[in-house]
Amino acid sequence: MVNQGLIELVEKLKGAGYLKLKRTEKAILAVDRGYFVPEYAKTFAYYDQPIPIEENQAISAPSVVSFMLDALDVRPEMNVLEIGTGSGYNAALLSFLVGRKGLVTSIEFYEKLHEFAKKNIGKVKNGEPKLEFKNLNLVLGDGSLGYEISAPYDAIISTAAISGINEMHPFVQQLKEDGKLIAPVGTSSFQDLILYSKKTNLFRKILPVMFVPMRGVGGIK
Ligand code: SAH
Repeated sequence: MVNQGLIELVEKLKGAGYLKLKRTEKAILAVDRGYFVPEYAKTFAYYDQPIPIEENQAISAPSVVSFMLDALDVRPEMNVLEIGTGSGYNAALLSFLVGRKGLVTSIEFYEKLHEFAKKNIGKVKNGEPKLEFKNLNLVLGDGSLGYEISAPYDAIISTAAISGINEMHPFVQQLKEDGKLIAPVGTSSFQDLILYSKKTNLFRKILPVMFVPMRGVGGIK
């Protein structure tokens, strides 16, 4: 049975104009956000709020997560890269969206968070409904230059902010010819969410956002 809090969250998001794609709505209902928030923040799991996690990081608000997934148009069988696993919530949603024949690689810089995400994914596996996550590869490392090993990707989603983007950026280089990228681009405090399509070679600003800065060699100094 789907949690009542989740149902209400989905209704609120739809009322506010989010969750335009039925697929994204299904994913949000299937992957219970309650499994990914730290114990002390349990009561906030179904609020449209970001939630702080260790290492000064945060799980994004459900509206932002669903907006990004809708914009990327993640479909079954896709090969997707996420930079910034954090709690593992978005990785789990991506895994649901690409299905058995797809692949999701999610890379995290901090070991504590990589372990936190693994633990949370484990909880969902044993939860209700049963989800498998056989298509999900959680990697510990610096994803600021992407992750060449599983490239090329149909879609890349960065949940940490970068300072700039152009055709030479490793994220763009690691996309398939018709691949798409979504990333917050700006300063360490304020960014624009940029949606890039390799086919049209257009970078579009779609939403002002506040994400944590990317660490690592290609991060924000
Ligand atoms: N998608 C996450 C939220 C991510 S917050 C979720 O659903 O919970 C941004 C994440 O990016 C943080 O976990 C942070 O540690 C990670 N991060 C920052 N710099 C990184 C880098 N260079 N490589 C990989 N992950 C990075």
